[in-house]
Amino acid sequence: MVSRVIPVEVFDLVIFGGTGDLARRKILPGLYRRFVAGQMPPDSRIIGAARADLTEEAFRALVGEAIAEFVPPDRQDKAAIAAFLARIGYVSIDAKGTAGWDALRAVMRADVVRAFYFSVAPALFGDIAERLHAHGIADGQSRIVVEKPFGRDLASARALNVTLAQHFSEAQIYRIDHYLGKETVQNLMAVRFANILFEPLWKAEYIDHVQITVAETVGVEGRGAYYDKSGAMRDMVQNHLMQLLCLIAMEPPYHFDPDAVRDEKLKVIRALDPVRPEDIVRGQYLPGGGQGGYVEHSENPQSRTESYIALKCHISNWRWKGTPFYLRTGKRLRARASEIAITFKEPPHSIFDDAKGWRENVLVIRLQPNEGMNLMMMIKEPGPGGMRLMQVPLDMSFADALGADAEDIPDAYERLVMDVIRGNQTLFMRGDEVEAAWAWADPIIAGWEARGDRPQGYDPGSSGPEDALMLMHRDGRRWREIRE
Ligand code: NAD
Repeated sequence: MVSRVIPVEVFDLVIFGGTGDLARRKILPGLYRRFVAGQMPPDSRIIGAARADLTEEAFRALVGEAIAEFVPPDRQDKAAIAAFLARIGYVSIDAKGTAGWDALRAVMRADVVRAFYFSVAPALFGDIAERLHAHGIADGQSRIVVEKPFGRDLASARALNVTLAQHFSEAQIYRIDHYLGKETVQNLMAVRFANILFEPLWKAEYIDHVQITVAETVGVEGRGAYYDKSGAMRDMVQNHLMQLLCLIAMEPPYHFDPDAVRDEKLKVIRALDPVRPEDIVRGQYLPGGGQGGYVEHSENPQSRTESYIALKCHISNWRWKGTPFYLRTGKRLRARASEIAITFKEPPHSIFDDAKGWRENVLVIRLQPNEGMNLMMMIKEPGPGGMRLMQVPLDMSFADALGADAEDIPDAYERLVMDVIRGNQTLFMRGDEVEAAWAWADPIIAGWEARGDRPQGYDPGSSGPEDALMLMHRDGRRWREIRE
């Protein structure tokens, strides 16, 4: 299978925070890979813009090191790296002051797509937007890419939307949620809307429940003080898990068009019921394995911030009334695994005497590792011995389906940056979506703050707090095992 790479228009991409962690680990290596794939036109340019007083040579060296560190060795090609680095520039700039802005204006070309990636602390988003405008660097065609977190509650998200809207129209603003750039996440839409098989069954009548799991093995060490002000609800659920829930639950959009898709996602968020306190379990990882626990990592012995959360959500609309969506995410869990599992109901009647082997059909969408989909189906156990049933996976793993090309599946950031240049907002969050998600999350957070709720401890390397198991058991269900 040959992947088709269509070059995007020639662009000047400015990365504010070009020397930062995200730029080094994801954005710059991703752009290199798109360059090698032939998607980035050779006369395009990438301009790092950050506080450090660096020469262009020094910044290029930094980009070269980032490629050496974060691109797999077999994908590193000396000639390609040299050609890529020749497309890189740098401007030292102060987001809060006047230094560097005229220099930036001087290097921007008029006749190409201009994009500005805000890979800096959110406190600087407004300053940069304002200066891009004031210095005549951005025009009505320019695009800005805004990193997470987009606010920490409805009021701050709204304020940020208002600030950005003073300088850019909604069509110019690309709020990134890198989960939407994952191959499987987009495939979820293809599987739902390009096949007749699933859609007739895609409703409460046939779906027992949905589980969304994003499990990490790492803790918050190194960024504990920052994380402590946020927690799993703000850091993961309000954005990433919510976006996944929307893609599963949304109605078919009339067209695969940015606003059509985002309109449907918004309706899902608005249809979410408030979550009852008894349907939420929060946890904090305990010390173990020679490492400190959450309170040590956050350097806050009194911390009530959750490093784990599980919750049961209901969507009040015709399609989903009665089908719970269980979400969970946490740090220092037993494996790094993200998946969506859609569990179907029992057939209405069994014609087989031996129903012992019967298990539910489950559609499992793996986000990481091993992106792919599995449909758990019942078949007859092979061989003599009567009609015994067994469950087998119908495996749709991308590595197998794509063969050698699987290596070339773009990383989420690569894909999303190219979408920005193409001017396609389908995989980016619209302002009203972000606000609706905060409007849902705010009362939940306020509720546990008002109750003085304390997260339950859980062992590192476990599946999370005991009460999270009970959340499922109570309903006669079980979480899927967290495994790679
Ligand atoms: P970082 O601290 O590593 O880098 C910050 C960058 O901002 C540096 O390049 C620095 O020079 C620049 N900067 C700071 N103050 C400046 C100023 N006054 N003027 C000009 N430049 C200034 O941060 P990071 O981890 O790369 O994160 C950047 C953004 O991406 C943040 O919004 C963060 O929340 C988001 N994000 C990061 C990650 C990640 O994995 N690192 C993941 C998701 C989202």
